[in-house]
Amino acid sequence: MTATPEEALEQAALAGIHRLAIPTPFAVGRVNCYLIEDEPLTLVDTGPNSGKALDELERALAAHGHRIEDLERIVITHQHIDHLGLVGILARRSQAEISALDLLAPVIEDFGADAERDDELAEALMLRHGIPRDVVTALRAVSRSFRGWGGSSPVDRRLADGEKLEFAGRSLEVLHRPGHSPSDTVFWDAQRGVLLAGDHLIKHISSNPLISRPLGGKSGEPGGGRPRALVTYLASMRETREMPAELVLPGHGEAFDDHAALIDQRFELHERRVRKIAELLEEAPRSAHEIAQALWGNVAVTQAYLTLSEVLGHVDLLLERGEVLEQELGGVIRFETA
Ligand SMILES: [Zn+2]
Repeated sequence: MTATPEEALEQAALAGIHRLAIPTPFAVGRVNCYLIEDEPLTLVDTGPNSGKALDELERALAAHGHRIEDLERIVITHQHIDHLGLVGILARRSQAEISALDLLAPVIEDFGADAERDDELAEALMLRHGIPRDVVTALRAVSRSFRGWGGSSPVDRRLADGEKLEFAGRSLEVLHRPGHSPSDTVFWDAQRGVLLAGDHLIKHISSNPLISRPLGGKSGEPGGGRPRALVTYLASMRETREMPAELVLPGHGEAFDDHAALIDQRFELHERRVRKIAELLEEAPRSAHEIAQALWGNVAVTQAYLTLSEVLGHVDLLLERGEVLEQELGGVIRFETA
């Protein structure tokens, strides 16, 4: 039985979990933070670091009879600014315990430095895969200007993959599910069949596996060659597919209850894109940037890294299957049919 989004939210509220949809300045629209009314009173994700987000978060908490100062625990699902930007401000005002996956903790503690290292990786990858230098330079400036929506805080509690986060009335299993980002963490209430999914699974958009520095564990070891974000993401989705989830509460958009069907759709989507890229490479060898242009035309500067990540993710699957080879010419990688 498929529940309507409203029924799904009601089901969550019965479990003491309330969605607080907080505005962001990004194309993705609002981010879903979740308030868990239990002991300790817990907020999952914070929204971006902006006055508007803070105002709306305060109002949303007030609608449930709470203030920021009442928060006792804040849990972060992953390293993206729309999910962790307010962490520093909320930590100072509430004195809440900040909890996150152990691999994510250093990112939360020094967000700016981590973002800078990710930008260095992105710059090197873009140049190596055929994106013109002027686009790379422009994108770097855009990325820097976004950083103000991020934030940092000391992390009080580092959670291991598989550990249980205990509350008076529930227990959430902490599960590392990298792919969308290297730090994606989902929180699983096995007793109620409720999965707090962050951006690991979103109903209305296929979570882009953006290439970022691996943080260890299932996200791969830092310095171990080009990160294979889509390969990692597909492995994470296979794990999630096997879970008996009855309700998924995602980081954006509506709650849903048919995660296995959704994951199967995603597998099909990625397979179609793999076949399309294989056909393009049968016509002629191409760089990842040329593949992106063949697929989507001249994309906006701000989308250049997103589309590059998307192409490289699918090319990785072809490389893994031995269908494609890579060759370097003058510092730029070209892919060709094996
Ligand atoms: Zn995200």
